[in-house]
Amino acid sequence: MKFDSPLFDRIRVKPTADRLKQRTCPACQWPGCARDGTHRAPKGRQAEGEYFFYCLDHVREYNQSYNYFAGMSDDAVYAYQKDALTGHRPTWKMGQRGETPADGTRDPFGFSHEMGGQPFEPPREESRAIRTTERRALELMGLELSATAEEIKTRFKELVKKHHPDANGGDRTSEERLRNVIQAYNALKQAGFC
Ligand SMILES: [Zn+2]
Repeated sequence: MKFDSPLFDRIRVKPTADRLKQRTCPACQWPGCARDGTHRAPKGRQAEGEYFFYCLDHVREYNQSYNYFAGMSDDAVYAYQKDALTGHRPTWKMGQRGETPADGTRDPFGFSHEMGGQPFEPPREESRAIRTTERRALELMGLELSATAEEIKTRFKELVKKHHPDANGGDRTSEERLRNVIQAYNALKQAGFC
């Protein structure tokens, strides 16, 4: 066999070129990605001139969430991306930085801290509005605030009977009153009062 034949050169050249390519192009640094890291992404505020290397898809993904990652340590960025593979847990339910809440969820990067560290709850205005609605509904039906579901249902039947237009000769005011009663009852039902 002639080792200096043109055929042998052709066979040998390809693996060499592949090795060279591997050396000049780092692998995508996105967790679980085996593609070439052909695109540079700046690491952020505290790391000017430093870059991650990602494939095209992941450089796009990184750029989209850049504000999240800017200034974060490499380990933190990597861990966050790895977590993203299985889906992030809602951060707004978590405690302060580094804390492990009773339900076992963790917030190693302190995202909830950045979001104010408050557990999620509906806006205060909204919950007050709901309470007001329910209170008004009970008042309209002539019920105590402590009325039970049974009391509400019983009163509702009484009021429907009393204010039904058929029982009042088609009186417009009783029709109006009936509409209000039904509205109040529905509001209480929706709020789980009955
Ligand atoms: Zn990638």
